[in-house]
Amino acid sequence: MSTATEQRTFDSLNPVTGAVVGTHPVHDAAAVRAAVAAAGPAAEWWAGLGWDERRRRLLDYKAVITRDIARIVTMIHEETGKPKADATLEVILTITHLDWAARNARKVLGPRRVSPGMVGLNIAATLEYLPLGVVGVIGPWNYPMFTPMGSIAYALAAGNAVVFKPSELTPGVGALLAELFAESVPEHPVFRTVTGLGETGAALAADPGVKKIAFTGSTATAKRVMAACAENLTPMVAECGGKDALIVDVDADLPAAADAALWGAMSNAGQTCVGVERVYVVDAVYDDFMRELTGRAEKVRAGEDYGPITMPQQIDVIRRHIDAAVANGKAVLGGPESVRPPYVDPVIVEDVPEDSPAIREETFGPTVTVKRVADAEEALERANASAYGLAGTVFSGDRRRAMDLARRMRTGMTAINSVISFASIPALPFGGLGDSGFGRIHGADGLREFARPKGVSRQRFALPGMNLTSFTRGQAELDRLVKLVSFLHGRRRR
Ligand code: NDP
Repeated sequence: MSTATEQRTFDSLNPVTGAVVGTHPVHDAAAVRAAVAAAGPAAEWWAGLGWDERRRRLLDYKAVITRDIARIVTMIHEETGKPKADATLEVILTITHLDWAARNARKVLGPRRVSPGMVGLNIAATLEYLPLGVVGVIGPWNYPMFTPMGSIAYALAAGNAVVFKPSELTPGVGALLAELFAESVPEHPVFRTVTGLGETGAALAADPGVKKIAFTGSTATAKRVMAACAENLTPMVAECGGKDALIVDVDADLPAAADAALWGAMSNAGQTCVGVERVYVVDAVYDDFMRELTGRAEKVRAGEDYGPITMPQQIDVIRRHIDAAVANGKAVLGGPESVRPPYVDPVIVEDVPEDSPAIREETFGPTVTVKRVADAEEALERANASAYGLAGTVFSGDRRRAMDLARRMRTGMTAINSVISFASIPALPFGGLGDSGFGRIHGADGLREFARPKGVSRQRFALPGMNLTSFTRGQAELDRLVKLVSFLHGRRRR
């Protein structure tokens, strides 16, 4: 939260106690410009280190983070309020991604020969992916380490410098990440953090020295950031919100599905972009599934099993969604009384109309709607009837059917018989479509997102009588080419 902006500092607060966790500078447009300007030469130096040295430094950074895990966990816990166990998992997940990015950058992005094709048989063709320069990363507060590092680690591994603007709710985590990086890379400001409120992020997005923006946050803010990027034609990755669905098919393992639905919906107080917000269960197993779900949910407590609502204003959104859902649906567990700021106890509502905000808008709270459907096809149809398209889950006993449903789910990622497992696999790309944004972090696609393809064609020898790109070209050369092309491409296949 912001206080005393006029003194050019602001405080981050513990969302449970209200205590000040830390005081950070408000970096204004001039300070952001200076950070980006300093990052320019740092990016050149970092790119010049080469693959092996960058990999060594990034693996060292990984070791520094691993050794300092307790300090990072404490900072995440204090700024977000999430239990330390959850913060620990967040750091561990980040470590595996950093490791993967460092180890795979050269393989994915490094120079390689590609086939020149028959017509170019005298040409050596080379493809490589070069760094962009300075990448600006704007991050949210819900997973203040894992989420931005999904961009930062991959951008650094691709040879870029990074200027990171963390959420105003979690500046301490952001500052710590850059501080620890400087232990492994002390020479230049290859990765630095600028802190402040929304305007600091806006200044970063508008800075012409930034060659790409990786934004994670709400869809509404993504549109504002994209407008700022448009000024300089700065490309952007947009990782926005979601309204993810979980489908329970007729032959699903119901206890496992209920366990997963509950954790997917309630963990981190529902403040997970790929959290479960809607559940569609086929008629034949609906009652059994609900028994499993409510039996488990009754034992889950806010303040014990998960933390508070980190951003105080979000309470109003959650309350509005619960009120509307309960007014037109049937509360199975909890209701309006579950909202007791800063906590919200688990809320399960069934039969909520499909036009309710609890079905259409991102709730970002520990609530879930459940609906009975005729079959998995109807479940998929309803799951796909969303402006968002981030991720989803399928529980089914039939592997082929589950794969088919997963492929047809209109999202960037789908987990089968588990929740959110794709996020823990560094090789899998992460990102959405529609209102959930565009572009990908993680995996080979995530590395390429922070690089530009460069193609080079080198003529190895002149082809006698085949100099086609010259005014000396004659009809005979063209005839020979037409003959060759007819031989290669002229046969019809029916
Ligand atoms: P916001 O959109 O409110 O903020 C995201 C970031 O943008 C913050 O750092 C914020 O700074 C900054 N910002 C605000 N205004 C501007 C501006 N005009 N120009 C540039 N930057 C700006 O999102 P939240 O932090 O509330 O995060 C929650 C959202 O993030 C949810 O919708 C969630 O689904 C989504 N999310 C998506 C993920 C994904 O990978 N797809 C992962 C995690 C979350 P400040 O905080 O200082 O205002």
